[in-house]
Amino acid sequence: MKKSIRAIVVLIFVVVIALTIRKLNEPKVFSVDGGYRTVMGTFAHVVAVSEDHGIAARSVEAAFDALIFIDEMMSDYKADSELSRLNRDGFPGPVEVSPELFDVLLASVEYSRMSKGAFDITIGPVVDLWKQAERTGRKPTQQQIAAAKSKVGYEKLILKLDGQTRTVRFAVSGMRLDLGAIAKGYAIDLAVSAARKTGASGAIVDVGGDVSCFGITPRSEKHWRVGLQDPADESKTILVLKLAGKAVATSGDYRRFVEIESQRYSHIVDPATSSSAREFTSVSIIAPTAIEADALATCVSVMGLDGGMRLVESLKDVEVLVIPTDRSKDYIYTEGIKKYVDTSQTYAEDSAASRMIAPETPTNE
Ligand code: AMP
Ligand code: MG
Repeated sequence: MKKSIRAIVVLIFVVVIALTIRKLNEPKVFSVDGGYRTVMGTFAHVVAVSEDHGIAARSVEAAFDALIFIDEMMSDYKADSELSRLNRDGFPGPVEVSPELFDVLLASVEYSRMSKGAFDITIGPVVDLWKQAERTGRKPTQQQIAAAKSKVGYEKLILKLDGQTRTVRFAVSGMRLDLGAIAKGYAIDLAVSAARKTGASGAIVDVGGDVSCFGITPRSEKHWRVGLQDPADESKTILVLKLAGKAVATSGDYRRFVEIESQRYSHIVDPATSSSAREFTSVSIIAPTAIEADALATCVSVMGLDGGMRLVESLKDVEVLVIPTDRSKDYIYTEGIKKYVDTSQTYAEDSAASRMIAPETPTNE
C-alpha cells in the first residue's frame, strides 16, 4: 500500500518536472502592439510577434511605413499623390507610374473583367456627383449623370508595360480614377509582407476593419481571432472568425452613405445605373489576400446576391457572408465560411451564428 502511494507520488513528480522542462524549452515570444494610428482616412492597428522584442517592434513600424507609403501614393485626397498626378495628366498622357500603382491598376482591370464591369475604378466622375449631392442636398440630374458616365469605363484606361517602363493613359478627357475600393487591401498586403520580411513570426494588420494576418499570435496560437461588427450596432460582434494566413474585408453602406431627400445612398456606385448599390447592408469576404477580399467585397456589393454569390463560388479559397439591408431576411453565406467561425464563442440570440442559413446553389446561366 505504502509502496504504491510512493510510486504515485514519484510519478506525479516526474510528470511535473517533465512539463516544467517542456515549458522552459518553449520559445518565449514577445508581441508589440503599435496601437491605433490614422492612415488612409481611417484607423490602422498593427500587432507583431517575435522571439526577439526588437524584431517585433521593427515589424510593427515596417508595416505602418508600408501603409503610409501606399496612402501617400494612392490617396485622391492628397493633391501631390501619384494618383492625383495621374488623374491630372492621364489625358492626353501618357504618364509614367510606379510599379505599385501599375500593379493596382492591372488588378483593378482584372476585377472589372471578372465582375463584368460592376467593379470599376474609373467611376470617379460619378462618385464626385454623389459627393456634390451630399453637399447640396439635391440628387444629380440626368444630364449630369449622362455627362459623368461618358468619362467612365475601364476599357478607357490604357495601361502599357514597355520593358521597365509603365505608362497609363486615359482615352477621354475628364476621367478620374478612384482606388477607394482596392488600395486599402493592397496596402494591407504590403504591410503584412513588410512585417514578415522584417522577421516577425506573426502579425495582424487592421485598416478600418479590413484585416490580414499570418503566423503565430501573442499567445503562440496558430489562429488569429477577428470579430465582425454588427452593421446595425457597432458595439456588437456578430461573429468571431479564426484566421490563419488569410484576410477579411467588409463593404457596406452602414458607415459610409449619403443622405439626400431622406433617402440613404451607399458610397458604392453601380456603374450600370450610376446610382448607389442598395441590395445589401454589408458584404464580408474571406480570401488569401487583402486585395482580393477588398475588391471582391465591393464587386459583390454591386453585383447583388445572385451574381455576387456565383462569382465567389467560382473562385478558389474565397468565402462570403452577406447581411441583407432588410433585417427580416437571413444572412447568406458560402458553406466554406463555417470552418472559419469560432464556435467556442457564445452569441446573442439575434446573432449570425444562430441565423446563418445555407445559400441556395447558384444556378448557371
Ligand atoms: P469599399 O468600401 O472597399 O467597397 O470601397 C468603396 C469605395 O470605392 C467608394 O467610396 C468609392 O470611392 C469607390 N467605388 C464606388 N463604387 C465603385 C465601383 N463600382 N467600383 C470600384 N470602386 C467603387
Ligand atoms: Mg473594397
